[in-house]
Amino acid sequence: MRTADAPPPARSARTLPLRAGGEQERGAGIGFTLLALDGAARRGRLTTAHGSVETPAFMPVGTQATVKAMTPAAVAATGAEIVLANAYHLMLRPGPERIAAIGGIHKFMNWPGALLTDSGGFQVMSLAELRQVTENGVVFKSHLDGSRHELTPERSMAVQEKLGVDIAMALDECVRYPASPEDTRRAMRLTIAWAERARAAFPLLPGRGLFGIVQGGVDRNLRTECARALAAISFDGFALGGLAVGEGHELMIQVVAHTTPLLPAEKPRYLMGVGKPEDIVAAVAAGIDMFDCVLPTRSGRTHQAFTRQGEINVRNARHADDPRPLDPDCACPTCQGHSRAYLHHLAKSEEMLGAMLLTWHNVHYYQELMRGLREAIVAGKLDDFRAAFAERRAQGDIPPLN
Ligand SMILES: [Zn+2]
Repeated sequence: MRTADAPPPARSARTLPLRAGGEQERGAGIGFTLLALDGAARRGRLTTAHGSVETPAFMPVGTQATVKAMTPAAVAATGAEIVLANAYHLMLRPGPERIAAIGGIHKFMNWPGALLTDSGGFQVMSLAELRQVTENGVVFKSHLDGSRHELTPERSMAVQEKLGVDIAMALDECVRYPASPEDTRRAMRLTIAWAERARAAFPLLPGRGLFGIVQGGVDRNLRTECARALAAISFDGFALGGLAVGEGHELMIQVVAHTTPLLPAEKPRYLMGVGKPEDIVAAVAAGIDMFDCVLPTRSGRTHQAFTRQGEINVRNARHADDPRPLDPDCACPTCQGHSRAYLHHLAKSEEMLGAMLLTWHNVHYYQELMRGLREAIVAGKLDDFRAAFAERRAQGDIPPLN
């Protein structure tokens, strides 16, 4: 897989010798090298304490220190080089001290690659009860047992440091969509104040990095204010938060395209919680380097498969007698070894293996999509890739046999 991404001889792509400066030169932080550009799209390489990550990259979601229904070896076999876990969930259970005592999150879950944790701002908003946001932090009751907790920027950094993650996220305040302009502005300014405290609290360690999160809803002026304020703080990368929350594809991509040019070109950019394959392709074209989303794994547990020709549900009766694989062009173990008829049977029988096989296929599909995007950027042919991708996805599923 790496060889397919090998150095670009293509004349059409601009190659760049840019490297992230600052902390990296002092031996701390993570590294980021831009290898090629195609329009606003970027082909790069992250270097962390747990290996390098080719970008644009998709991070499978392992909220509870497990990518649901997959072994770590299976996740790695798809080509994934970085996974995401969640500091809010792991703080409540099993607790960062327990994971630290076992030797850190990589050893705990037996994942040798790079790992990023979300700080928990989004989960506090969506899961916790009776939350109260103050200048200092957020007080909430655990969704598990009702116990009372306070999450401050400093506490979030301490949790992520104890976990031993490669990339930590600063604590932010997410507002629900739609939110009033006043609420969006207040949360955005609080996010900036918390970002400064997070940076001060997170130690500079070799191969470990901290990302700030740009908030501001769908208001371009607020996004500008937040991006400029965060760019002045020496973060190792920048995330766009508060998107993919109901605003729709077009508006999301407009906000992304507005925001990416405001961020330092030499640092990685991460669009949080995105998305469908179409969202990812458009966001890569707008200059995003990293993604995470529950879609490929969650869909695998609800009988949905992503294919080059759109989504299918294997519970549908049309697959009951179909000897063909999910996707005739897919090289994953599911498609190499199992028919639609078998996957349909597993779904109807509620067998665990059905969720496992579909999840493996879906994560493999997402990693193949990223590989295709990286190769297209290096070749200077992202526009051609996008056109072919859209045409094939619009075709719909392969026609039934007779
Ligand atoms: Zn497959």
